[in-house]
Amino acid sequence: MSAPKGTSSRSAAPARVAELRGLLLRANRAYYVDASPIMPDAEFDRLLAELSALEAEHPELDDADSPTHRVGGEPIKGFATKAHSRPMLSIDNTYSEDDLRAWHGRLLKSLGMGDGLFAGGDPPMLLADAKIDGVAVALRYERGRLVQALTRGDGVTGDDITENVRAIRAIPLTLAARPSGAPATPEVLEARGEIYMPLAEFERINAERDAADLEPFMNPRNATAGTLKQLDPKVVAQRRLGFVAHGRGEIDGPHAEGFAGSHSAFLRELKELGIPVSPALSHSTDIGAIVLAIQGFATTRHDCPYATDGMVVRVDDWLLQDQLGVTSKSPRWVIAYKYPAERKTTVLLRVDHQVGKTGKVTPRAVMEPVVLAGTTVQHATLHNYGQVRKKDIRLGDTIEVEKAGEIIPYVVSVVEAKRPKGAQPIQPPSACPICHGPVEIEPPEADTAQGGDPELETARRCVNPECPAQIREKLIWFAGRKQMDIDGLGERTIDAIAAGGIPLASFADVFRLGQHREALLGLERMGEKSVDNLLQGIEQARTRPLGRVLGALGIRHVGASNAKLLAKRFRSLQDLLEAEEAVLNQIEGFGPIRARTVHEYLHSQAGTQTFRELEQVGLTFPNPDYRDQNVAQCSAFTGRKIVLTGSLESFERNDLAEILEGLGAKVTGSVSKHTDLLIAGAAAGSKLTKAQELGIEIWDEAKLLEALPPEHRPQPPAA
Ligand SMILES: [Zn+2]
Repeated sequence: MSAPKGTSSRSAAPARVAELRGLLLRANRAYYVDASPIMPDAEFDRLLAELSALEAEHPELDDADSPTHRVGGEPIKGFATKAHSRPMLSIDNTYSEDDLRAWHGRLLKSLGMGDGLFAGGDPPMLLADAKIDGVAVALRYERGRLVQALTRGDGVTGDDITENVRAIRAIPLTLAARPSGAPATPEVLEARGEIYMPLAEFERINAERDAADLEPFMNPRNATAGTLKQLDPKVVAQRRLGFVAHGRGEIDGPHAEGFAGSHSAFLRELKELGIPVSPALSHSTDIGAIVLAIQGFATTRHDCPYATDGMVVRVDDWLLQDQLGVTSKSPRWVIAYKYPAERKTTVLLRVDHQVGKTGKVTPRAVMEPVVLAGTTVQHATLHNYGQVRKKDIRLGDTIEVEKAGEIIPYVVSVVEAKRPKGAQPIQPPSACPICHGPVEIEPPEADTAQGGDPELETARRCVNPECPAQIREKLIWFAGRKQMDIDGLGERTIDAIAAGGIPLASFADVFRLGQHREALLGLERMGEKSVDNLLQGIEQARTRPLGRVLGALGIRHVGASNAKLLAKRFRSLQDLLEAEEAVLNQIEGFGPIRARTVHEYLHSQAGTQTFRELEQVGLTFPNPDYRDQNVAQCSAFTGRKIVLTGSLESFERNDLAEILEGLGAKVTGSVSKHTDLLIAGAAAGSKLTKAQELGIEIWDEAKLLEALPPEHRPQPPAA
């Protein structure tokens, strides 16, 4: 029980804010730089929420570099192009060990260290590190603060993606203080490196996109680039991007002289300053040893938590680097060795046209089996019919397949020289392959993998709501473990029930299966025990919470996470159904397209009928608070944006904010049209006036006490 403490005072806030910021920074650093986490994610989130509440209460303590701002700022309009301080050259690369040795030979020669009789000096130290498949970026710190992040662009100018980069937790906003006695940090310090998406995150996001019926990202690099191009930094914050530094840009100002002096020393300094680095996996003065390391990494790299495509070999010493200089395109002192992507050729036998739960018709290649990156594959994604047309894939073609991000097999291209005579192009179905109903073609959006080519389509969709293929896919999804979790209602049972002629054409039908017990018993392989199990599983599913049900219905753009956002925002199904499109649009992470699709569905005939029928068969849609599983019941505060003002008799504002957050409210610092409720104590000032002007609901302290669950009401003072 958490009665208001009444002990925290105004003067304690600055100290706690500083303490929390320190703790969160340390936790971030331990996670991203040292790769040894010091607190579980849930603890991190809790501290972050506490800091956020304190900052809302004490706007004077706000700081642009506070960890709370890493949830991403306001959406941006676009990316300005800015000049790099020094050209951001790309690295020469090769797929051949001979090239690598030849590069080394040239290097020795130009340093006057050849193998010849008169060669002098020790050969330079070489470093080799993993080449991570991400997006190159230049981070500029001035007086220890991150002031700018530019993409490589054309090497001379790049896109200013500072706002998005600020939302990446792996990248420090301020550099760590140096211990006394250590050399000072240069005033301008530019670290260049790679922003990447860890493989686990890549899989998580693709699963989410799949659930929301969005095209999956092709590979982690693609996903990283797509994320950094987002105009909404909040989206960037939701995706856990990583960063490693692997190079220097401008280093200037007092203390620049004598800073580092070699690549290895530079990385050590950066790590001290809190920037994650790409450490050398091998170092040697002997190119033969480096080649061996590259051969070894060819297999161990598959254990890395991120995608790699080679190794970068460079001269360590900065003086030697400068001596070697650059060509017009790339530095002479560094080279990338790339592993050939594992790509195989096979023959395309046929193309299946699959109908998904939202009616999306997708082509899938069926191929002669081939071993690819360790597993036998005979199916590969063709993405969509636009891609099939663009790549001109025909039946019987010899095709090249690869695993995107070493995970998903896909068709890269066609070996046209091997095309059989008269090979037929693949015809996109003009009707649904299952119900033969009409299909709609969706043009590309500007921002897709298709590059917005107006000739190409992104999706083809069966629009018949009664389509049996869609219904089947929807039911499989609906009953799945992560949705309604109905024990005993798997793909095979669903097919058996349909084949047995038992009505199963809607979600509500699932809950009417109890009326068909006899018929179920008559199905093959359905004994008394399995039927009872099934019916019990269905019974238990009647009380699944609103968020689960919403995620289970297969509404376009609503996967598990968006369903949670909806359930968090509204107190009940009724509230959600009554919400205006504009209200949906205000939900963080939603945006206009999603808001419109969801609003349209909720008010469509199909949507209305679905909810009405589900209610009729006894679903209750309970909606507990998602953020705190301990809060069993829904309170008057759940999902509401609340502002506190004036002085309250029974509470410190801090404590009250904490209680309300615990009940699922969001306590913010200022009144806006998004505010749901103002709680006004005595001597309330401008916030009260503004809330009155905006017509926002206003409560006094008495009303507040009435609405609070008893365990949160203050205790009468002890006598
Ligand atoms: Zn159909």
